[in-house]
Amino acid sequence: MTILTVLERQAGAWHRLSWETLAAAQQIGRGLGARVIAAVAGREVAALASQAAAQKLDRVYAVEHELLGTYTADGFTSALEALIRKLNPELVLFPHTYQVRDFAPKLATRFQAVLVSDVVGHRIEDGRLVLVRQLFQGKLNADVRFAAAGPWFASIQAGAYRAGQVEAGAAEVEAFAPDLDAGTIRTRPQPPFREAARAVDLSAAEIIVSVGRGIKEKDNLPLVEQLASALGAELAASRPICDNGWLPMERQVGSSGQTVAPKLYLAVGISGAIQHLVGMKASKTIVAINKDPDAPIFEVADYGIVADLFEVLPALTEEVRKAKG
Ligand SMILES: Cc1cc2nc3c(=O)[nH]c(=O)nc-3n(C[C@H](O)[C@H](O)[C@H](O)COP(=O)(O)OP(=O)(O)OC[C@H]3O[C@@H](n4cnc5c(N)ncnc54)[C@H](O)[C@@H]3O)c2cc1C
Repeated sequence: MTILTVLERQAGAWHRLSWETLAAAQQIGRGLGARVIAAVAGREVAALASQAAAQKLDRVYAVEHELLGTYTADGFTSALEALIRKLNPELVLFPHTYQVRDFAPKLATRFQAVLVSDVVGHRIEDGRLVLVRQLFQGKLNADVRFAAAGPWFASIQAGAYRAGQVEAGAAEVEAFAPDLDAGTIRTRPQPPFREAARAVDLSAAEIIVSVGRGIKEKDNLPLVEQLASALGAELAASRPICDNGWLPMERQVGSSGQTVAPKLYLAVGISGAIQHLVGMKASKTIVAINKDPDAPIFEVADYGIVADLFEVLPALTEEVRKAKG
């Protein structure tokens, strides 16, 4: 069996999710006794391909073509389709990035398959692969087994696997030049989507107080700011708070924000959608305040306070101030 991992580059460097996907591929490969190979597509990707070749892989393919210099769904789909037809992998894994969301479903349909997106884990049962993905904002975990023959296509959600767990090794790089025709590329690329600028580095914070939609109004934010200041914590938020402009985008935690792992993460009025969890679940201790006892945040929380945050926050802030003298 062969697993092909499609790595992604962004502005000449690796997209951070590439390594998490490689960690997933290596772990699945170990469980199934499969060969793990990787590919990176673009123009002048040789240097990146050799970096990938320093990992434990059976081979790395540098998929090079002039027409892959700028990303297009048509170009990437055709180039990777050609590589997959040559290699015949059973499983093709992608990082769940904006770019992958754009082209991978189309690539899968070229093989009469679907993309199993947002995979957050896996198991091997009776020698067969079971992928886990979440439904309904993390309220349900679904097991996905493949019934038809491969290739199977899946994308790995941010934060589901640890980049630090990628095993080092030495692999050969092989160049692959797909036969692409400019006439089949129908889109004119615009500047790529730019993720939020990082003026605040939450990844260095030891304590984070993070606020969600449960806070109801911008005018209520001082309640969390006071607790953060009493604890000497950085303030962070779920996406709706930043989308509303109540806090700057760089304070957003989650799949489209920052990934954090403080000693203490205090989630206030945050439901715990998967896109939020992937950004904070590696925190050492998680405390959640939420009035809904069934909120998914409690599944990752070490301590849960099922209560109205408007009652808990002032009392907690006062106690912290007292304790700190
Ligand atoms: C492509 C994509 C990327 C995304 N990226 C991110 C991301 O990076 N980060 C992110 O956070 N989200 C992200 N999201 C959005 C995500 O799916 C959720 O919508 C979001 O995380 C929900 O935010 P929330 O928990 O603050 O709000 P809600 O889901 O509305 O939860 C509010 C919670 O507050 C509780 N509450 C209400 N009132 C009180 C009270 N008085 N006291 C105590 N608790 C109370 C409720 O019980 C509820 O659980 C993304 C979504 C998509 C589709």
